[in-house]
Amino acid sequence: MRFRYLRHLELIASILCFVLGATLILVDIYEDHQVDIQKDAFEESYVEAEEAEQALEEEGTSKVVAREKEVAGESFLVESRIKRGETLEKFLQRNNTSTDERKQIVQAIRKYFSPKLIMPGHRFYFRYDKNLPAQQNVLKKIIFILSNTKKLVITKNQSGEFVSPGPPVSLKTTLSYTHGGIEDNFYTSAVKAGLNASLVNQLIRIYSYSIDFQRALKSGDTFEVLVEHPQDEETGYVGYGEVVYATLFVAGGPLRLFKHTLDDGSIEYFNEKGEGAKKALLKTPIKGARVSSCFGKRTHPIRGYTKMHRGVDFAAPIGTPIFAAGDGFIKKMGRLRGFGNYIFIQHSQDYGTAYAHLHRYGKNMTKGKKVKQGDVIGYVGMTGLTTGPHLHYEIHYRGEEVNPQLVNMAPQQRLSGKSLEKFLQVMRDIDQKAKALRS
Ligand SMILES: [Zn+2]
Repeated sequence: MRFRYLRHLELIASILCFVLGATLILVDIYEDHQVDIQKDAFEESYVEAEEAEQALEEEGTSKVVAREKEVAGESFLVESRIKRGETLEKFLQRNNTSTDERKQIVQAIRKYFSPKLIMPGHRFYFRYDKNLPAQQNVLKKIIFILSNTKKLVITKNQSGEFVSPGPPVSLKTTLSYTHGGIEDNFYTSAVKAGLNASLVNQLIRIYSYSIDFQRALKSGDTFEVLVEHPQDEETGYVGYGEVVYATLFVAGGPLRLFKHTLDDGSIEYFNEKGEGAKKALLKTPIKGARVSSCFGKRTHPIRGYTKMHRGVDFAAPIGTPIFAAGDGFIKKMGRLRGFGNYIFIQHSQDYGTAYAHLHRYGKNMTKGKKVKQGDVIGYVGMTGLTTGPHLHYEIHYRGEEVNPQLVNMAPQQRLSGKSLEKFLQVMRDIDQKAKALRS
């Protein structure tokens, strides 16, 4: 129905894209050196942050985090984290538990949490009493931080067995306020301002529907972020929670987004009008990339002849994560002729997206798997027929490739009536908190 209208737009878009492409080439010639430095800085900071996180995960050695004098002697708390490839059983063994104790502890955990879901980095706190006069360390209590928001306590019952006295309890949260300015790129600037890698990724994911990080942000733009920190008084644990609120102060006005829990329990981000940040499909399913070839007629870089280019190419370094453009399931995954490693996601009866030349596929990605918008489905590569690393991205509408730049990007959700009122109240609360923390 709207396709006749689309064809006119398509012509305009091709012209715009050609002009844009030509400008990009010119800018590239002038700023080649600068662009390279920026890209390197981006990659480096990304790699650094990832490595730091990995190191944190792998830091499996136990350490005493608190010591207190108790009536009977000394009590102390040991923090220990699951190492890569370690099972709960092996972890407990490493932390000097007896066979009987292990059996009881695993059983107590299993009541509320599947040991199969144990991940590297999961934190446990062991509380010991040093009994006098034998100076023996006796394990008294275990606190398992099982998620960003919950802990499970395991203590000894009257007959001396380890049990969990109740289901996991929620951790209290505090808020922290961070603000900063964009210098070279968003990633490094946000890390410099004090946000950790996963929070920056979360921000990029939240904003990726509304902003092109490579071009829309200019040096001198600023941002502010309110982040939740789950914390546990007893162990002194402080974690990173979710972004509660963020604003990007960019040309054209501030882009504000607020976290809001919907009636069904799902968490979404909305702007001050109650419009969801999630758009139907991502225009840029990748971070830190630039468009290197648009939808339309062009001379094929390898085959040489003029051919319709039925997608958009994003130039990016090998290994750059690629996001699912929308919720859906993986319909095709594997080698596909000149496309190399290829994924096709079906989003609805009408819409699908394709991703080509992947270096490798995302963790646990298989044909038939359900994916959420923003999931990492693969990494940029140059498999198949290509002259350099890039993502070839296609949007299909009723089985035909369409120009991604012209696909309707209306918000997926628009709050109204009672649910809008509820959100506006949440927004006012967050605003107040931000105001207090700013000063
Ligand atoms: Zn392409």
